Amino acid sequence: MNEFIYTSPASRVVFGAGSLRHLEREIDLIGARRALVLSTPEQRASAEQVAAMIGDRCAGIFDRAVMHVPIETAREAREAARQAQADCAIAIGGGSTTGLGKAIALESSLPIVAIPTTYAGSEMTPIYGITEAGLKKTGRDPRVLPRTVIYDPELTVGLPAQLSVTSGINAMAHAAEGLYAQDANPIMSLFAEEGIRALAQGLPKVLANPHDIDARGQCLYGAWLCGAVLGNVGMALHHKLCHTLGGTYNLPHAETHTVVLPHALAYNAPDAPEAMRRIAKALGADDAAGGMYDLAARLGAPLSLREIGMPAGEIDRCADIALQNAYANPRPLQRDAIRALLDDAYHGRRPA
Ligand code: NAD
Repeated sequence: MNEFIYTSPASRVVFGAGSLRHLEREIDLIGARRALVLSTPEQRASAEQVAAMIGDRCAGIFDRAVMHVPIETAREAREAARQAQADCAIAIGGGSTTGLGKAIALESSLPIVAIPTTYAGSEMTPIYGITEAGLKKTGRDPRVLPRTVIYDPELTVGLPAQLSVTSGINAMAHAAEGLYAQDANPIMSLFAEEGIRALAQGLPKVLANPHDIDARGQCLYGAWLCGAVLGNVGMALHHKLCHTLGGTYNLPHAETHTVVLPHALAYNAPDAPEAMRRIAKALGADDAAGGMYDLAARLGAPLSLREIGMPAGEIDRCADIALQNAYANPRPLQRDAIRALLDDAYHGRRPA
């Protein structure tokens, strides 16, 4: 076996249908007394539910989380936490809300209790992102890793079926790239394979019945494992392309991951055969790239960049941006092949 480094994550996970009822106990355990509750405007009702559960330990609600954490919102939330004399933040929502909690923690070291309601996985990572003047800067800092994560599948029942599908495939992308990461390790590879398997089995059941709590639990469990992979090992071509596409054309986050993933896998397949074998096995398919495309198609997910809003005639520019900075990837970055990958993704062709 090759040498590897594995850093055990420092967060506590409380998992199970109805586990939100343990929130007060969890706040006690981190020694907090005044919690600022964070949400998006759309999830204000969930924030109010949390506030009601913790009663006078709630120091206030800040419900203005939005995608990509604009610096202005981060500043307002930090000020709200300071004025409320909060000693912890509770983030209930998806990656955008967790991201806002991280922006607060980055400056104040305030512990975060994350209550994820999508499958994005941000709650398992020390990665933060803040957008200033249209540019999203990301970084890693152990202070932003949530201290406690409560995974309650009941809270994901309201996630619309199509958003569940794309969010779940977004999670699988973390695991897939984790399997061929330069710093991959056997523990995270186990997480990755199991995470893909759980989501591949759970998502069709969620689509058939979004209220199926067992299926919701299976997906949230998969999302947790995939998020842990994202937090522990480096990502490669797929995440780089999605970051470029999302940032340059303002494309929706989870949908972009869903469309690009099969093509990024096809690109890397010749140089990462063991990762591809494990992805295919987890999907129950003959081939990783084709299997991922077929799963997305079966689940009614978008298959082309065109249909999710990428403008025509931009493939060359996008290939250039994606090649601007060097980064680790199993297969060397070749402009013509990346251009072909983007062309296939733009038109939604099944990888050969
Ligand atoms: P999101 O948090 O932006 O949520 C999308 C919408 O769905 C919001 O309006 C939200 O309120 C709503 N929503 C969430 N859960 C719901 C539920 N259960 N029922 C009904 N509505 C619900 O989307 P996301 O995909 O979770 O997060 C995307 C963001 O997270 C991106 O900015 C991405 O860059 C970031 N992200 C960061 C990391 C990291 O490690 N830092 C990891 C993954 C994603």
